[in-house]
Amino acid sequence: MIATHNPGKLAEMRELLTPYGVDALSAGELGLKEPEETGTSFGDNARIKAQSVAEATDLPAFADDSGLVVDALDGEPGIYSARWAGPDKDFARAMRMIEDKLHGRGALSPDRRKAHFISALCVAWPDGHLEQFEGRVDGVLVWPPRGDKGFGYDPMFLPDGHKRTFGEMASEEKHGLPPRGRGLSHRARAFLELAEACLG
Ligand code: IMP
Repeated sequence: MIATHNPGKLAEMRELLTPYGVDALSAGELGLKEPEETGTSFGDNARIKAQSVAEATDLPAFADDSGLVVDALDGEPGIYSARWAGPDKDFARAMRMIEDKLHGRGALSPDRRKAHFISALCVAWPDGHLEQFEGRVDGVLVWPPRGDKGFGYDPMFLPDGHKRTFGEMASEEKHGLPPRGRGLSHRARAFLELAEACLG
């Protein structure tokens, strides 16, 4: 099971699992209720999501909790990255909020606009056993947002050492998976560790 109701993440997680011959259904597709994300870290929230789906279905469940951490905003939006987009999931507005806050703090030069994405992954097995992994990618925030690929904050995020934002990259380039890469996105980096430990 993929423990998500987010279509952008579901597509990416499926893409990561397929080469390992893992066929997965999502919590959203089964209409399972979303648990409340009451954790205080990405790892806590990934565990809450994976455990609730493993318990509801008696199948192994894979969850990601992720978000954007902006240095000049003292780590915001962090674990609240999805919530900043509001109930209508308006990421154009969420990106504008970040930009306005950066302006409010005079953070205009690239060295004041550092940010990173974090992905915490958790696999919960029906017997209660858990495995957890974390990946990170560093970059700077650009304005205006660039590109219409990916999801969430991708159009604003320029990964270090690259000229295209995540919003301008096809998913193959964003994840940078082997054999051509060694993992670029936070989710791909965490997933490569998970694959080594759990998928053989
Ligand atoms: P949650 O893990 O479901 O609480 O939500 C994480 C939120 O972080 C997403 O809704 C996005 O806003 C943001 N996010 C996480 N990963 C990415 C990514 O790869 N690109 C863009 N935004 C992301």
